[in-house]
Amino acid sequence: VRKIGILTSGGDAPGMNAAIRAVTRVALANGIEVVGIRDGYRGLVEGTFEAYSKTSVSDILDRGGTKLGSARLPEFKDPEVQEMAVNQLKANGIEAIVVIGGDGSYRGAQALTKLGINCIGIPGTIDNDIPGTDFTIGFDTALRTCVDAVDKLRDTSSSHHRCSVVEVMGNRCGDLAVYTAVSCGAEIVVSPETGYDELDILEKLRYLDTAVHKNHAIVIISEKITDADGLARKISQNTGFSGRATVLGHIQRGGSPSPTDRILASRMGEKAVDLLMNDIGGHCVGIIDNKIISMPIDEALNRPKASRKHLYRLFDRLI
Ligand code: ADP
Repeated sequence: VRKIGILTSGGDAPGMNAAIRAVTRVALANGIEVVGIRDGYRGLVEGTFEAYSKTSVSDILDRGGTKLGSARLPEFKDPEVQEMAVNQLKANGIEAIVVIGGDGSYRGAQALTKLGINCIGIPGTIDNDIPGTDFTIGFDTALRTCVDAVDKLRDTSSSHHRCSVVEVMGNRCGDLAVYTAVSCGAEIVVSPETGYDELDILEKLRYLDTAVHKNHAIVIISEKITDADGLARKISQNTGFSGRATVLGHIQRGGSPSPTDRILASRMGEKAVDLLMNDIGGHCVGIIDNKIISMPIDEALNRPKASRKHLYRLFDRLI
């Protein structure tokens, strides 16, 4: 392969820049030209390309977000729009692409591979909701942000006999919630994996208040499960704690990537280029048992997500 493109798609995540840098530098070191494609599949269709040199990716390793920009282009499901993208690529001599994004972005990569453009997916999202990998780029940094926030809330909650309900992201994956809960010694974790049982939550809190004499409590709850404010109100009405909701929101998406994310992104970027040099397309990169691996996107999307049962069990034993 002589010339590859790189794009970031879907929600952004800290560490995407580190992946862009790794793909660019490893490819250039192997004599492969690199083209940065702006704003995900939109830039691909519109042909907003920029030739990258080694210095194009200087000073981005430690920066959150994505230098290339990201966008959503729902029309990319349309074969005619995919054809337009292929034509842009052919006109510019781009033979293969590295796509950094989530499972939606993987599907676009798969479609392009079927049309003759080898694509490799790299999992980039703070939600850790992509199968085929234990961890995604951005998860560790977001976890640090959550842990920082909950530690601070714990300080003020204990001064006021308060119960903080903290909503974290995850897009129907409970990893951010359970990792935060174990890291912070939360009293309760609620995620898609645990299910939502309001009566049970209130009962546990009453017990912690009256029998264990806790002077504060932290409930970590995944987004998209219930209204955090509503739950906090019920806690105030039905337990001895004063309930307060904090929705962490998009601060979880920002910040300088953690060393773990920088290393993960660099390793995955290297692997993506290796695959393309071996003429492999339609695969995604992952990390499983701390080894960088790859598998067909089809296979990854049909796998269950990595199980966190052991962490839920541990959480219960540490309460
Ligand atoms: P993520 O990649 O984070 O899961 P999305 O699901 O929004 O985010 O997908 C990002 C982009 O990938 C979409 O805006 C669209 O351009 C493209 N995409 C998503 N699903 C498909 C699909 N089935 N076929 C082709 N392209 C897709």
